[in-house]
Amino acid sequence: MEYVLRCNDLKCRHQLLDRAVVTTCSHVFCTRCADTTGLSRTSNSNRQCPACETQLMNPNDVVVQGLNPSEDYKTSVLSGLSPTVITEVASRGLAFYSYQASQEIIYQEHLAKSLTDKFGDLNQNMDQLIHDANSQIQLLQDRIQGTRTLPPITCGQGLTSQSSNAN
Ligand SMILES: [Zn+2]
Ligand SMILES: [Zn+2]
Repeated sequence: MEYVLRCNDLKCRHQLLDRAVVTTCSHVFCTRCADTTGLSRTSNSNRQCPACETQLMNPNDVVVQGLNPSEDYKTSVLSGLSPTVITEVASRGLAFYSYQASQEIIYQEHLAKSLTDKFGDLNQNMDQLIHDANSQIQLLQDRIQGTRTLPPITCGQGLTSQSSNAN
């Protein structure tokens, strides 16, 4: 399965399939988050990346990108540019993509670690509960054993002590 970009707002993490708002600090947002965080609304001079707080002052620091470009767009977007520029643009695009992929791995690792920690805590609590429950069961079993075996003895002792008292 091909890796799909996700909105870099950690509360959102919406999969970006159609359109995305990309920044030159290598972050990407869904159009909704770009609107709510003010990224797409504020003027160039006071735009700030919601993820890393980089000031995005140049006009192309924030761009709405169609993620499924048409054939004519693919044909024309780099046409007329020199091989040097084409290579530069392509390599920056690849750097953006690999940064996003590596951030996703870090995020997933962090998630896995916190889940493992939670699982460990739960496991420990469960062990303690089982231990406590077993102690309770043992205690109750001892009492039951006691009430089963004690009555005849206490009866007998009671009788003897009563009779000895009487004596
Ligand atoms: Zn979002
Ligand atoms: Zn950023």
